[in-house]
Amino acid sequence: MPAKLASARLLAGGDARPGPEARQLAGGGGVRGAPMNGGSRKQEVSLRSEQLLQQGPWRTPSTSSPMTSACLAWTAARPSACCYPQSASMPTTCHGLPGMEAWPCCCRPPLRPPTSMPCSAASSVRRTPTSCASMPWLRALPRRNIRRSWSTLQVSTPTWATTSPLVTPSLFPTCPRPRASVPLQEKLERVILGSKAAEQHPEEVRGLWQTCGELMFSLESRLRHLGLGKEGITTYFSGNCTMEDAKLAQDFLDSQNLSAYNTRLFKEVGQDGKPCYEVRLASVLSTEPILDSEMNSKLKSYEFQGSNFRVTRGDYAPILQKVVEHLEKAKAYAATSHQEQMLAQYIESFTHGSIEAHKKGSRFWIQDKGPIVESYIGFIESYRDPFGSRGEFEGFVAMVNKAMSAKFEWLVASAEQLLKELPWPPAFEKDKFLTPDFTSLDVLTFAGSGIPAGINIPNYDDLRQTEGFKNVSLGNVLAVAYATQREKLTFLEEEDKDLYIRWKGPSFDVQVGLHELLGHGSGKLFVQDEKGAFNFDQETVINPETGEQIQSWYRSGETWDSKFSTIASSYEECRAESVGLYLCLNPQVLGIFGFEGADAEDVVYVNWLNMVRAGLLALEFYTPEASSWRQAHMQARFVILRVLLEAGEGLVTVTPTTGSDGRPDAQVHLDRNKIRTVGKPALERFLRRLQVLKSTGDVAGGRALYEGYAAVTDAPPECFLSLRDTVLLRKEARKLIVQPNTRLKGSEVQLLEYEASAAGLIRSFSERFPEDGPELEEILTQLATADARFWKCPSETPSGQA
Ligand SMILES: [Zn+2]
Repeated sequence: MPAKLASARLLAGGDARPGPEARQLAGGGGVRGAPMNGGSRKQEVSLRSEQLLQQGPWRTPSTSSPMTSACLAWTAARPSACCYPQSASMPTTCHGLPGMEAWPCCCRPPLRPPTSMPCSAASSVRRTPTSCASMPWLRALPRRNIRRSWSTLQVSTPTWATTSPLVTPSLFPTCPRPRASVPLQEKLERVILGSKAAEQHPEEVRGLWQTCGELMFSLESRLRHLGLGKEGITTYFSGNCTMEDAKLAQDFLDSQNLSAYNTRLFKEVGQDGKPCYEVRLASVLSTEPILDSEMNSKLKSYEFQGSNFRVTRGDYAPILQKVVEHLEKAKAYAATSHQEQMLAQYIESFTHGSIEAHKKGSRFWIQDKGPIVESYIGFIESYRDPFGSRGEFEGFVAMVNKAMSAKFEWLVASAEQLLKELPWPPAFEKDKFLTPDFTSLDVLTFAGSGIPAGINIPNYDDLRQTEGFKNVSLGNVLAVAYATQREKLTFLEEEDKDLYIRWKGPSFDVQVGLHELLGHGSGKLFVQDEKGAFNFDQETVINPETGEQIQSWYRSGETWDSKFSTIASSYEECRAESVGLYLCLNPQVLGIFGFEGADAEDVVYVNWLNMVRAGLLALEFYTPEASSWRQAHMQARFVILRVLLEAGEGLVTVTPTTGSDGRPDAQVHLDRNKIRTVGKPALERFLRRLQVLKSTGDVAGGRALYEGYAAVTDAPPECFLSLRDTVLLRKEARKLIVQPNTRLKGSEVQLLEYEASAAGLIRSFSERFPEDGPELEEILTQLATADARFWKCPSETPSGQA
């Protein structure tokens, strides 16, 4: 339907040449990644936006596929992964950004609005009245509190909107002054109960507040982070599950060849005193007698290692029903048969609860090379499962940035040659590098609890080893990360700051490209299949760390995630980040991205400096009380900082200082002359160890290595535990991304954009489901209520539960 296509291109910034209007939409006003309060950085970002605009998807005449309008239409009414009640906001997908805090925690709760930016082209914006004066119902509050409470409410709301209203770790988990949050809670309560919504629906609003108010602000240690048992809370597991339960369930799932990706685990104690576990699969169907042999045969009770297991399905059925309805509609606009088959398999997967069907869909997705509109949906990333094997429901729709994609394609073409540069023997590399699709995208919509800057999917190991994968860099998300103001740059030496600002963006393009393609894309797992055959030569392959033959490997059914479970995500991110740092030293790589001479050296220096600084900033994501890390990428960066510190010879130093305000501060120093002579050999040794332990499935060795570096202590000279307090003290306001919405008006797709503020973000969310919003709200409330008993405090636990 040509009319639809034309308008989709125009509204999404498409069509042959950007006129003045398109420029304004795509980059003008500093909306694409520029800080709200301007300055020279703003001009630079606008300039960059201009460059991106020239390269962007808008210069792709007659290449838009029918999927464009389908995806836009689908997005307009798609059920969002935000509906999936998990927990608090953290980056979920590779690649969380160094220095980009996604966790909404605040030492200083967000009393001042954050820098927030629209994700897409922006602002034909209707200005939203956000001042408290325009809110008559706020008059009930003491005047001096009004602005603070209103700002707090606005900044907190996006977090609520993307998280479970029922079981969510506290919003303020690292607040150093517990008392500070009490009055804040009271103020918010007054704002909420004084709202128009509460006036119109008093019982519902009061009920919702009673359900979540205490939990959100609770400083009870268990409610402060994701975890199992005493360590934390998660809605992937009933509140009474421990790490031992999770391990047992994983063994059970492996024994039945069931994937954990779309499951949750609920534990109750039977009348015989034996634990009884329900493995609940997410699906539209539950007990309907449908001819569906693959899944039906698995839906039954099992006795496993003295415990009872029952496999059921139908979790989140009403929400997945909506997903399926919209995927059906999208099928009509598929641009290729691969897209059509991919959608059919997703529908099959979500209807029946079959991960096998999702794998088949992902296979078609991999085969759909170079689409103009890219999308993916499903239970994808396992970062937020404390055990590391259950996937978060996510979906995105994005458009290709042709110019940057061309550089990535060149990198892909050079990949086989570059893989040889990695510091492990050829036997530890994949038998054949499966050339992936590697594109730079601008996100139209990313639904999930966080927006990554790059992704490398699918995550199914077997598919990755045999069929390949796709790499995606999300350009307009990266642009938000570039937007750093000089005066807010923490922990850098004065003379580094301008260089850092100038080269952070370009160096991060290089790092993300290498991380995704040659980081996650490299390395072989040694496997013995179900027939006993090995995928490596037991006689000749030698472990370079021990000089002996290979002693351990993956057995049939074992995967990286299932074997390395709790450290799998972070370890793998660390491997990928290390590959990025290591290969960015390669002149060929720098040439691909257009850097040579002094510029190339600056890109290398800033990339390494950024990693060192990120390793320090990472401490925000460490919880001393539980001795645990809350974010995979940040833990990985801390580990790399430790490795570089260990290299010695003055390569890296982290020094506690006193800031000009008289309060504690710190400074990182990287000696650029020692990157190649000291840093590279240290990273080389570390990378080889990481890969060898991964290839051989040596969990004990891997844990010892990784957890050793990840340990945070107050040992001199760095005293990281004390430095953590400084990191929290100097924390920047977090960055938010305001996502647009789309609407179908007749046959035309409209792009609705919002102002770069917390208010804009709330409006974007509240207008996302114009037709079925109330229905979705009802469904979510019912789903949450139905399971609420599984997360009651122990004293409230109904009898029969352990
Ligand atoms: Zn990654």
